[in-house]
Amino acid sequence: MRLCVFPVAALLAAALPLAAQSTATTADLASTVARQLPSLTETYKHLHRNPELSRQEEKTSAYVAAELRKLGYTVTEHVGKYDDGAQAYGVVAELENGPGPRLLIRTDMDALPVEEKTGVDYASTVKTTNAQGQQVGVMHACGHDLHMTVLLGTAREMAERKSQWHGTLMLVGQPSEEIILGARAMMADRLYERFGRPDMVLAEHDTNDVPAGSIALKDGPLMAGANTITVVIRGIGGHGSAPQAGKDPIVLAAEFVLVAQTIVSRQIDPQQPAVLTVGTIHGGTKNNIIPDEVTLGMTLRTYSAAVRDQILADISRTAKGLAEAYGVPANLMPTVTLGESTPATINDPALNGRLRASASAALGKDHVLEASAVMGSEDVGRFSLDGKIPAVLYWLGASDPGKLAESRTTGVPLPSMHSALFAPVYTPAITAGVTAMSAMALDLLK
Ligand SMILES: [Zn+2]
Ligand SMILES: [Zn+2]
Repeated sequence: MRLCVFPVAALLAAALPLAAQSTATTADLASTVARQLPSLTETYKHLHRNPELSRQEEKTSAYVAAELRKLGYTVTEHVGKYDDGAQAYGVVAELENGPGPRLLIRTDMDALPVEEKTGVDYASTVKTTNAQGQQVGVMHACGHDLHMTVLLGTAREMAERKSQWHGTLMLVGQPSEEIILGARAMMADRLYERFGRPDMVLAEHDTNDVPAGSIALKDGPLMAGANTITVVIRGIGGHGSAPQAGKDPIVLAAEFVLVAQTIVSRQIDPQQPAVLTVGTIHGGTKNNIIPDEVTLGMTLRTYSAAVRDQILADISRTAKGLAEAYGVPANLMPTVTLGESTPATINDPALNGRLRASASAALGKDHVLEASAVMGSEDVGRFSLDGKIPAVLYWLGASDPGKLAESRTTGVPLPSMHSALFAPVYTPAITAGVTAMSAMALDLLK
């Protein structure tokens, strides 16, 4: 599929020979990005065919690093330290171009344990062993291959246009976004102390909710903060025929799941978005045995730290209160453990306004849409140091415009991110992605 937006910018430039520098630059971008498209398509298909799971991005990061080195960037690999001390596969590529601001552009690099079912000729057939020792299919089902491709295309535009900007470009290949540990690992490895603190942070994420060829931006909250919670409900096991002799943690866990659903619906201000989902529940070994404990895995999504803290307290109180009501002994009260977390993604309004203007000049206003906030999460917010550094994440359109329109009419959703059927319409997505990101970077560093 070809994108039909560029003639608008080209026409504008032709009709207005005295047009601003940015218009001339964006008209020129259309042709240079088009020239890059064949090699970027190869890059995209190569990355798509060779996905690697979170924490395992060895070949992917080496590929990204090698491509950036070829373009003249100073590249450092293996940036990042996980909490368990393991080294991460983070990549930092810098291009210094005189005095000026430092702009960080981030791509994620990891894939998912999903067996691809798209049927495309560049589909992944990769299988690997996950952290639990299971054999799983691996797929770029979240489009991080598209993000890397767009970053590499933008890297080339910026390297070939050094006369049009000044400052320092800091490109970051981040591992382990899917397990929200990668940004944290890179920051723990003293990213800004070693390479310099950026003045601005920019990132994108693809989505089927925006047509390929367009992007969507939004001020303020875009993606929720996430917390992983493990609740262990304990009881006293025994024979399934004699419940009176024990304390059944299965019944208690079942009640906890239902009461926990009233935390958001009955105890939190309806104006405050929040989602609490129990994603796993494990307990017991045999039909006629009451087990000693049941383990529940939960995810919490919120936009406000106060709401998050209130819900976490409500979870603990609910679990303990129910256990007491069931007569569970004091030494067997439930335990609530917090796992990984990530802050909400909050877009800086001033930076967002500037990006919207440069993207509109490059893609045409009709291809720069207003984004909606979602309850999904990202860890890119860590690079903003809790909002101290202006940061924006925007959506990169990935769907066939006709199919998206049809899906909105019928109400049948398109395959979403993380689906085995997720297949971005890559030609217009890469073209719009590189054009928009290059126009934004040129404007921010002009
Ligand atoms: Zn994902
Ligand atoms: Zn993703």
